[in-house]
Amino acid sequence: MMCPCGATIEMLVFDGAKPRWDIAVDANGRPTLRPSVWRNTGCRSHFWLRSGRIVWCGDSETA
Ligand SMILES: [Zn+2]
Repeated sequence: MMCPCGATIEMLVFDGAKPRWDIAVDANGRPTLRPSVWRNTGCRSHFWLRSGRIVWCGDSETA
């Protein structure tokens, strides 16, 4: 996936990878990730992906 800043994020969601995320895809094919994405390199973004939308941690849920 792409980070909001434009960098590529390698999402390690396959079994055995750490850290890893759980992905739920809704009926419209929009992914939701758990837990939040917190990059410890690059831009250090911390956000949620909910129903295919970026939600910044610490910001309002409507971001
Ligand atoms: Zn970024």
